[in-house]
Amino acid sequence: MNKKGVVYLIGAGPGDPKLITVKGLECIKNSDTIVYDRLAGDRLLAFARPGTELIYVGKSPDRHTLKQDEINRLLVEKASQGKTIARLKGGDPFVFGRGGEEAEALSEAGITFEIVPGVTSAIAVPAYAGIPVTHRGFTSTLAVITGNEDPLKDDSGIQWEKIATGVGTLVFLMGMSNLPNITRRLIENGRSPQTPAALVRWGTRPEQQTLTGTLGDIGEKANKAGFTNPAVIIVGEVVSLREKLCWYERKPLFGKRVLVTRSREQASALSEAIEGLGGEPLEFPTIGVGDPEDYKPLDQAIDELSAFKWVIFTSVNGVAYFFNRLRRRHRDIRELAGSRICAIGPKTREALENYGLLVDYVPGEYRAEEIIAGLQGKVNAGERVLLPRADIARKMLAEALTGMGALVTDVTAYRTVMGGGDSAEIIRKLLNRDIHALTFTSSSTVQNFVKMLKFPDLKNLLAGVTVACIGPITSDTARDLGLKVDVVAREYTIEGLVEALLEYFRQPQYLAE
Ligand code: SAH
Repeated sequence: MNKKGVVYLIGAGPGDPKLITVKGLECIKNSDTIVYDRLAGDRLLAFARPGTELIYVGKSPDRHTLKQDEINRLLVEKASQGKTIARLKGGDPFVFGRGGEEAEALSEAGITFEIVPGVTSAIAVPAYAGIPVTHRGFTSTLAVITGNEDPLKDDSGIQWEKIATGVGTLVFLMGMSNLPNITRRLIENGRSPQTPAALVRWGTRPEQQTLTGTLGDIGEKANKAGFTNPAVIIVGEVVSLREKLCWYERKPLFGKRVLVTRSREQASALSEAIEGLGGEPLEFPTIGVGDPEDYKPLDQAIDELSAFKWVIFTSVNGVAYFFNRLRRRHRDIRELAGSRICAIGPKTREALENYGLLVDYVPGEYRAEEIIAGLQGKVNAGERVLLPRADIARKMLAEALTGMGALVTDVTAYRTVMGGGDSAEIIRKLLNRDIHALTFTSSSTVQNFVKMLKFPDLKNLLAGVTVACIGPITSDTARDLGLKVDVVAREYTIEGLVEALLEYFRQPQYLAE
């Protein structure tokens, strides 16, 4: 039986990718084809399965990529081929999104479709600016109005004389180019020019900008500030609540786009922390991990595992590769019964605990030097120590242990490779000053970043960009490569790095303009 096509008309939310619904995200993950608009948030596309066909049909005010009937035809055609299509639209698909027209076309063609409502910008964008569209103390009515229509034309579909005074909160979408006419019409029809008004541009995104005034002066102010689409216009007493309720723009990393250079597998903790503080993480993996070129040394160590008095893990990847290999050799953690276990830091310890192993020693400070100091007296001369680690790990730990009389078996458990991030895209963003900070969590992230960018004048490219390093070794590497380091974490962990970045941006000169 042929697979039947289906189209999901999905509201992608107003811009913050986390404002997609659970159902919407599920559809993105399970679709063959994604047909998306300009305001549907590129970051959601990252959740598509590899190989998903991505079709941009974005309309912008001055450039129609595909006409509406062409979009309708495209959806019908793809669905007729038996495909599952995610039709991603900004906000909610049925709020000025022409979703109704697309659904009609599908219905007429006999195509199965579902509507996945979304978080509309009409409500969420004011909310992110600290403006509740209704409030018991201020208004009990709300209207969402298209600002697209020329308010001066006679056969207007909008009854200005009724909405001007008949509705408490007015939210206009697509209204920026008509702003002077909208405010004029409202005032002409009896709304007080003193009514508070706000414009919010690129709401729920790091670029969010808010302008407040009154119905009487907001047009003029917008003009002066060069305020353009996409923005929502909010008119009503509720706007005055912003002073108290403005929350998003006051978050410590608000407006900051921060580059995360860790491997894809390890990026998420840092990305989430940045996001939680109001910043936007941009992932550019400079490191990937892969199998060692030769598994023999690790295999041999695994065969002799019971002979090691200590096994020292220096990374989460080391733990993962070690235990995968153990499994592949049909062994399990019982082999470690006679060994003591050391982890370089809390994350590595957590990884070991996930395998059901308690760690005997974690140094107070997460560096090789500190491990050595701590192991003094714990490791005795003549005892065997296993170090399963990355191919490029520093030799220092092995040498120091040997110096203590230990018999060290230093094996490669995994290989670090250059990451697969899109360098051209990062260079473009840096040139546009769209990236505000870089984070480096190891020397190899810096080295690979510089190698991958291959940019002749790195100093200029990074002028004004905050460079943050997880610790002194990483920052030394960065400086050696000609980078100006602004932030070095005091505690050499992801939390420490985020804390240091936060402290840095708390300085008065960085607070939101
Ligand atoms: N279906 C969408 C609206 C589409 S019309 C929804 O429910 O949100 C496009 C208009 O929506 C834009 O002109 C602008 O007025 C508004 N808009 C959408 N996203 C926005 C955002 N992030 N910030 C400000 N306005 C936005």
